[in-house]
Amino acid sequence: MFVSSKIINLECTYCHTITPLRDFKGECPNCGEKIVEARYELDKIDVQTWLKNLKKRRTTLWRYHEVLPIYDTTNIVSLHEGNTPLIKSQSLATSLGLKHLYIKDERQGPTGSFKDRQAAVAISALKEMGIDEIVVASTGNVAIAYAAYGARAGIKVWAFFPELAPNDKMREAAVYGAEIIKTTGTYDQTKELAASFAKARGIFLDRGIKSVSSIEAMKTMAYEIAEQLGEEFDDGNRWRSPDWFLQGVSGGMGPIGVGKGFREMLGFGLVDKLPAFGMIQSSGCAPMVEAFKRGQRVATPIEDSKSVIVTLATGNPGRAYEILYDYVQENGGHFISAGDDEAFNAIRVMARYEGLSVEPATGVTFAGLFKLVQQGIIKSDDVVVVNCSGHTMPVEKRILGDQWQKLVDMSDTATAPKVPAERFAGAIQQMSDRNIRRVVVIEDNEAAARLMSRILEARENCEVYLAMDGAAGLRIVRDIHPDLVITDLMMPGVDGFTVIDTIKNDPTLAHIPIVVVTAKELTVQERHKLDTQTDLILQKGSFIDDDFIESLMQKLH
Ligand SMILES: *Cc1c(COP(=O)(O)O)cnc(C)c1O
Ligand SMILES: [Zn+2]
Repeated sequence: MFVSSKIINLECTYCHTITPLRDFKGECPNCGEKIVEARYELDKIDVQTWLKNLKKRRTTLWRYHEVLPIYDTTNIVSLHEGNTPLIKSQSLATSLGLKHLYIKDERQGPTGSFKDRQAAVAISALKEMGIDEIVVASTGNVAIAYAAYGARAGIKVWAFFPELAPNDKMREAAVYGAEIIKTTGTYDQTKELAASFAKARGIFLDRGIKSVSSIEAMKTMAYEIAEQLGEEFDDGNRWRSPDWFLQGVSGGMGPIGVGKGFREMLGFGLVDKLPAFGMIQSSGCAPMVEAFKRGQRVATPIEDSKSVIVTLATGNPGRAYEILYDYVQENGGHFISAGDDEAFNAIRVMARYEGLSVEPATGVTFAGLFKLVQQGIIKSDDVVVVNCSGHTMPVEKRILGDQWQKLVDMSDTATAPKVPAERFAGAIQQMSDRNIRRVVVIEDNEAAARLMSRILEARENCEVYLAMDGAAGLRIVRDIHPDLVITDLMMPGVDGFTVIDTIKNDPTLAHIPIVVVTAKELTVQERHKLDTQTDLILQKGSFIDDDFIESLMQKLH
């Protein structure tokens, strides 16, 4: 479909001067600002008709083509990008005490990260402009996505990588036929080198966040989220904004695009508010977080990143931070950082309790989510959407450590094929030959109880007995004399305080260690009493981290 009448203008984010897309020369003609936003003449589209048509359209991000910077839809280069699922979190939501936690699963894009959106729109726009060669600088995902879409469109891609980019990612880009250039510099230095190479050779340079197509591409995440939340909450009768959108941030293109999307939808009357933004950076390279802590609107560049998470290694965010800072001032939100260890721990948590294997940059996001909840910044009723930005493929080595395999020696089975059964039995015996510990969990929230038993069973040879109230819990304790009791305090009928008193006053049970897990604000007297009676008091909402699990394990030995 050729929409010859489609009008796309660009508005300067600094002085608001309007330039038609077709006349744009890379910067605002009035003030020289390079970050501009696309504006569409949408009053010509009836929003209700548009919404009705959307339901019939193919499920890629191009369903929203009226608000994307392409004139002729025959120029679209597609590998079925966008329309990723919005997955409702179960275990993680329970452990954090959140009622409405959603994961926007961008791992399901054609090359495994949300950069597929950017590549699809950028490469389609290049095709429309008749350009057949492009230079990009990337820590991995942009290069991979551009290489794939470039291959499909017949557009040559030159990909520049900083020294610390993972080899596996460079190889992936190379498979698609991209020219791979690895530098010995940082990401920021590599961007400069790529720019001068492009200039010298007269090749089109991808301008990242300064390119209209990037922000417009990221915007489609906001449209999808609003539409998907509308289906969750209102049977698809209207669209809805979440209270929070969270992402691990490097250059800031994702949240800037998503913010633009929600603003645009607010303008069309599709949603009635803008979400707060939780922007999480890696502690070793967190210029935005540092500036935010100091209340500054301009970030001081960081020269050398101390983080191994190279995907988030933008040391100099420039104007992007100002735009995000202003967004947070107006609409709420927070900048926070998480360390590499916290990110790798979060990756394990996401894989084991949600079945989602994410890359380190996304681990940073989830580690930040844990903190924002623990600090009370995100509240239990808030509707939270997390950008699950990328897949850990191939699996990042640091996630697993050394002891992730059990070896079964089968070298003898070749010579004596008839008696392997005993050897297997022996090997299996060895694998499970540890003392079984018995733990009673007394907890009236069923999901929390089930999660707790999964955590225990995954870590140790534990047999977990669940009780939904104090009376049932006490019956089991008397029956089996467990190695550990974990109890909630607030329960219907016999509460946790009574459970603890009963156990401590029975000489045959008094030796059993007790761990209290509670969401209750304890009074001074209650805390004092519990301190003398129990071994450990843990606050709910934090119990999924490694420290929590370690402290439980110690009580078992
Ligand atoms: C690029 C990238 C980010 C950071 O995105 P920005 O919005 O540009 O800061 C986060 N996670 C993954 C997986 C990425 O590829
Ligand atoms: Zn301007």
